[in-house]
Amino acid sequence: MSSSNPDRPDIVLIGAGIMSATLGTVLQELESSLTITMFETLHDCAQESSDGWNNAGTGHAANCELNYTPQREDGSVDISKALEVNTEFDLSRQLWSFLVRKGAIPDPSAFINSCPHMSFVWGKANVAFLHARFKEMSAHHCYKGMEYAEDRSTIAGWAPLIMDGRDDSEPVAATRMITGTDVDYGTLTHLLLQNLQAQSGFEVHYDSKVIGLDREADGRWRVTVQQGGRNHSVSARFVFIGAGGGSLPLLQKSNIPEGKGYGGFPISGIWLRCDNLSVAQHHNVKVYGKAASGSPPMSVPHLDARIVNGQHSLLFGPYAGFSTRFLKHGELTDLFDSLSIHNLIPLLDVARDNMKLSEYLVGQVLQSASHQFDTLKQFFPNAVRRDWREAVAGQRVQTIKPHESAGWFKHEAGELEFGTELVSAADKSIVALLGASPGASTAAFIALSVVQKCFGDRLTEDAWLPRMKAMIPTFGIDLKLDSEACRKVRAETATALKIQNV
Ligand SMILES: Cc1cc2nc3c(=O)[nH]c(=O)nc-3n(C[C@H](O)[C@H](O)[C@H](O)COP(=O)(O)OP(=O)(O)OC[C@H]3O[C@@H](n4cnc5c(N)ncnc54)[C@H](O)[C@@H]3O)c2cc1C
Repeated sequence: MSSSNPDRPDIVLIGAGIMSATLGTVLQELESSLTITMFETLHDCAQESSDGWNNAGTGHAANCELNYTPQREDGSVDISKALEVNTEFDLSRQLWSFLVRKGAIPDPSAFINSCPHMSFVWGKANVAFLHARFKEMSAHHCYKGMEYAEDRSTIAGWAPLIMDGRDDSEPVAATRMITGTDVDYGTLTHLLLQNLQAQSGFEVHYDSKVIGLDREADGRWRVTVQQGGRNHSVSARFVFIGAGGGSLPLLQKSNIPEGKGYGGFPISGIWLRCDNLSVAQHHNVKVYGKAASGSPPMSVPHLDARIVNGQHSLLFGPYAGFSTRFLKHGELTDLFDSLSIHNLIPLLDVARDNMKLSEYLVGQVLQSASHQFDTLKQFFPNAVRRDWREAVAGQRVQTIKPHESAGWFKHEAGELEFGTELVSAADKSIVALLGASPGASTAAFIALSVVQKCFGDRLTEDAWLPRMKAMIPTFGIDLKLDSEACRKVRAETATALKIQNV
């Protein structure tokens, strides 16, 4: 039963980034009578990680990110994680296509554009790895159309900037998927919010920071909000904590037992950005390389074409770093405020087990600007310093997940999680999204996971299932296994989104 009392919405979404905007869109499509209230600390939506320049805008389909395809001891390559990410992106493509077809998003080119995805490596061992990876991936229907080259002129035809001026004696190899995309998640978030604001049951409140989450006697959640120096509260049946780096502190405030022991480790990022169109027009591709030893997966260096707010630029990076803030607009005390007796041991455990990561981050922080530029030159040998400037990327909070240690001496231990995690109360009345990888690309997958986890009883033929299948035609179908469904839905979504298909 939906509530029309603004102080008693059915649903509260915390944060106005791509994740809350996507979940709000899905829930509103499933049941238009739901009342949904969104609270956002800042003055507008998509000002943190979802802003176009705070992330790399890769439509992550695991086409080119080498960290998703580890090499086994015997030299073969494991593509199982890549296939998961690849088909999760299909869910986003279906949701966006649905919104385009119904006119809720007028022109998909405003946020998504074709941009081939390439992996590029140099050195004998890396070339052998890329070849083994190509053999494995190109044999699977999900990677239909993947190309491989060791020939320098072919690679130069795909991405001239990475080959001009390169040492001829070094073996190189590349793969390319022309179906790759660049996505401006900031513009997309704005489009989703515009569509939601046109619906009668939806309200968004900016400059409104959620500062309290308390359970009420009837199981609802009292959400306390600070707005213009004053506090007020609403009572909600269901709360989604989609606050990006701010999710961990809010999960802690909710006091649900399932959230105990979680910690967070912030990682900041710097890009090099080039807005010189005479350079940018020669690179309409995203080129991902191999990560340095010990580096976290999201700091794989890449040279990307970007289209943000309709403007063509290039981006290189990210150079990871360390900051104690959980959000770009957060506080220096965020990390310390998040420490508690419950997560201290898991945090120390992770610090002890990840010395290589700590060394990597310290090394990155100590790198001078000229060192950073030298890394760019490994990808773009003829890069000119004056064409590039530094830009601060979004902040990520890597999740530290508690678990009991193995062995005879059982103790609380911690594990560094590079993926995303939904942590929900036993009664499914509140759920927090922690972590940021693969990120915005899988927003639809995350929204569907929330629906399945927390509203599973509504997914029946006489309730939400028909609407769900209208939005996501392959709902319930495993595209990794069903090649015909995969081929069909990719062709349909490519047409709707005006992107390349093979
Ligand atoms: C350097 C970098 C590169 C990335 N590259 C990619 C990429 O190429 N492709 C990709 O798919 N993903 C990428 N990502 C990940 C992607 O950006 C994130 O996964 C995604 O934007 C997260 O969206 P969100 O809505 O959860 O968080 P955010 O966009 O951070 O939004 C959270 C919102 O919650 C608000 N908030 C916080 N606390 C409160 C509170 N107490 N009350 C009210 N509001 C609050 C914040 O102000 C913010 O607006 C990248 C991320 C980074 C940092």
